[in-house]
Amino acid sequence: MKNCIFCSIAKGEAKSWKVYENWKVCAFLDINPANKYHTIVISKKHYTNIFDIPPTELKEIISVVKKLAKIYEKKLGIKNIQIINSSGAEAQQDVFHINFHIVPRQKGDGQDIRWEPHPEWTKEYDRMLKRLKQ
Ligand SMILES: [Zn+2]
Repeated sequence: MKNCIFCSIAKGEAKSWKVYENWKVCAFLDINPANKYHTIVISKKHYTNIFDIPPTELKEIISVVKKLAKIYEKKLGIKNIQIINSSGAEAQQDVFHINFHIVPRQKGDGQDIRWEPHPEWTKEYDRMLKRLKQ
């Protein structure tokens, strides 16, 4: 896709620090890292997000996420990571080319992602499940 930074990175047209690539997927260090080795994993082909990517392509990405997690564990001793995908602007997707973040975490790193919990919504779960089955 034209003017897509991740397509440009996948094609090698934009500067990036690639940690891994195969014929379907590439992974590179985030230029705005939350931690050292914060990595973005993308499909080389342009898909917007979870809603339009075919399951087979998604499997290729997640396999690379797994591979890198194991490499980071083995070579860097990283034992804690967050894997984050945002799909849609209101879900805080900022680059509209499917991507998974691998964010290594450690005690005292100053990072925090927390949602505001709403335990009172469990009262609606029976009704919510009914809606899914309609
Ligand atoms: Zn793209």
